Amino acid sequence: MRILVSNDDGVYSPGLAALAEAASEFGKVRVIAPDVEMSSAGHSITAWRPLSYKHTPLGDIEAYRVNGTPADCVALGASRWEGTDIVLSGINLGSNVGHGIWHSGTLAAAKQAALMGLRGIALSIPVPKDQPDFARLKPSIREVLELLLPDKSLTLVNVNFPHEKPKGIRWTRQSIRLYDGKVLPGEDPMGRKHYWFTVVPITETDEGTDRWALEQGYISITPLRLDLTDEEKLRAMQARHSRRAAVASGSPARARTAERSRS
Ligand code: MN
Repeated sequence: MRILVSNDDGVYSPGLAALAEAASEFGKVRVIAPDVEMSSAGHSITAWRPLSYKHTPLGDIEAYRVNGTPADCVALGASRWEGTDIVLSGINLGSNVGHGIWHSGTLAAAKQAALMGLRGIALSIPVPKDQPDFARLKPSIREVLELLLPDKSLTLVNVNFPHEKPKGIRWTRQSIRLYDGKVLPGEDPMGRKHYWFTVVPITETDEGTDRWALEQGYISITPLRLDLTDEEKLRAMQARHSRRAAVASGSPARARTAERSRS
């Protein structure tokens, strides 16, 4: 199995080293990651200038740094390394749950893999104060990879480890009720106003969600999909439109049929 490992914290992140090391027990690993931190870069790609990569020693693992975004790294890495089976992204220093995954570069690297017909797994861990103890987390990383790597039905997955020793694994849904992004005003030393995009703590959590599992001390695993279509809205709009079209065409019989099929 050819495993491409990337992240959004940059090629020198301890989380990336921990993931690459754990993954090397499961196949041939190659690291390709941004040369600088790209957290919250989302799924942006570099289309206004060329990209390049440089060899970067990372112990025994073959590694490269790229002057681009996480999505760039995966696109470039997969195109240069034929036969890439799967992309692992992380382990991000900071959880990626709820609506936060829209901004996440960690998730974007996994999504880029899925866009290219590969499989992508994003892995993150909260950093409340101290740096995570990756040596202690190693058995949990191995457990998750043992579970997810052989299952080809899982094309895009979001994994979050709790900061403390995990109590187990919970399959979860994305928490979507509340958004933790907020813009706060501040002032620079010269008295000029500026603004920080930051996150505010969400205290309410819904059972069964990624945020809830983390709070309870479990590893959260959420299967994701690329299709953003709201199926319910789509059916409602199609039914409404076909009714209107029937009325507009002056056919009361067709309008009644459309009305009946809607109810
Ligand atoms: Mn990050």
